[in-house]
Amino acid sequence: MKYIFITGGVISSLGKGLTAAALGTLLERRGLKIALMKFDPYLNVDPGTMNPYQHGEVYVLEDGAETDLDLGHYERFTSCHLTRRNNLTAGQVYEEILRKERRGDYLGKTVQVIPHVTDEIKNRLRHMGQHENCDILITEIGGTTGDIEGLPFLEALRQFSLETGPGQCLFIHVTLVPFIKAAGELKSKPTQQSVAKLREIGIQPQILVCRSEYPIDHETRQKISNFCNVSVEAVIEEQDVKHTIYEVPLMLHRERLDELVVSYLGLKTPPADLHDWERLVGRMISPKYRTKIAMVGKYLGVPDAYKSVMEALFHAASGEDTGVDLIKVDAEEIEKQGPEIFLDGVDGILVPGGFGERGIEGKIAAAHYAREKKIPYLGLCLGMQVAVIEFARAVAGLKKAHSSEFDPQTQHPVISLLPGQNAGGAKGATMRLGSYICQLTPGSVAHKAYGQSEIKERHRHRYEFNNAHRATLEKAGLRISGIHPQGDLVECVEIPDHPWFVACQFHPEFRSKPDVPHPLFRGFAHAALLHAQNN
Ligand code: GLN
Repeated sequence: MKYIFITGGVISSLGKGLTAAALGTLLERRGLKIALMKFDPYLNVDPGTMNPYQHGEVYVLEDGAETDLDLGHYERFTSCHLTRRNNLTAGQVYEEILRKERRGDYLGKTVQVIPHVTDEIKNRLRHMGQHENCDILITEIGGTTGDIEGLPFLEALRQFSLETGPGQCLFIHVTLVPFIKAAGELKSKPTQQSVAKLREIGIQPQILVCRSEYPIDHETRQKISNFCNVSVEAVIEEQDVKHTIYEVPLMLHRERLDELVVSYLGLKTPPADLHDWERLVGRMISPKYRTKIAMVGKYLGVPDAYKSVMEALFHAASGEDTGVDLIKVDAEEIEKQGPEIFLDGVDGILVPGGFGERGIEGKIAAAHYAREKKIPYLGLCLGMQVAVIEFARAVAGLKKAHSSEFDPQTQHPVISLLPGQNAGGAKGATMRLGSYICQLTPGSVAHKAYGQSEIKERHRHRYEFNNAHRATLEKAGLRISGIHPQGDLVECVEIPDHPWFVACQFHPEFRSKPDVPHPLFRGFAHAALLHAQNN
């Protein structure tokens, strides 16, 4: 069992998560069994309580853990199945330590960052190592080298690599080599300083993955090698991708990253077979058709807020040999200006998940527009709730229909809390989270898309379709196409007499992979393509 640690330097948002995931792709294709995990040095217990402006998307695992979006990359790029143990935050570490302290486990001792916090981190690594039973555990450390809150994690890794002995651990540092226009050259100084910072702590990275807008010339590589004390072959260039993030494994492979890693770790494997991946990327880069899809949301200023949704859409479209022109529509703008100017001429409308009242009427208007104009519609979580509200208001005659999340006094709460649920309780990890079974109605669009009658999908929501209004809505023509049998919860609705209108309470986007698009997204992408061809 070997360990790879991926740290980041100079600035955040360098794509450490992608690099970790892409390395996972390469090592799996060398026949190695790998596992991936992420350490996040912030003090939140999990990102579930952070808003998308702070953190981007919250990625939900099968077991209901609310995790960092990098875990989404891990699941999309590799065959790993992740659980809540694959994301450790400083908040969890301290929560555990304080619990032990109160219980009296440390009786008599002063509880300190070293050794107690560092021991807790090392224990998690050891535990994961035993539990995963893999050849290599890749661990990404969030944040940037030099951050105060990251120090205990780096110190723990230094100790861990010393304790496990030579050849067991490999440190990869992802860094930035900026191009300074005025000087007309790539600059290695930030990388030098960031590696110096690591070495101050006692960590000498063996490989540097250098993010750069331009190719890194030999001279710059030589300089980085000299100043950072790594061999020149271990200065790996990772340029900004031209078309898709799925090019990253191919790029790193060209730079011989996987070869270097196995040789450092003393592993004998055949070379990576990347034929399937090359084909996949080839198809993504030059699709035959194009469609225009509108995504109506509200966290549009944050590129990562709808990460999995956008990836799933991209996977599905490329499965249909289609490129997507994604139009991001601010739901509040629809409220101000009406849907027409934003949605006229699109081939599909997607309303993703969300929280809070802001923009809600704009999303309802988008669902209305899709239904009336017979434009393919995919509603995810809140996107299903708005579709139900729209149908109740416009078709079933429940003019005041709403979700009690947005109007607690509404006469017709078609979306509401379940009896016994309480909106005012603690916020952390209290939603309906993780995988639940859903039974699909035979003959429904969803049933046809999945090709099976029982599915399992991941959830993250508090409010539910209100069964008190079910008969009224069904009588008016809404098709209930998915049910969670325990508690008879509505999970999926459709509009018959429409080319493709499916909305689900769960989040299918978390299960889509580039080579295995999710069936609902696939169905939506196909319907959008038909729309593009017929209009
Ligand atoms: N705000 C809604 C709820 O809590 C929808 C959540 C979501 O879209 N993830 O039920």
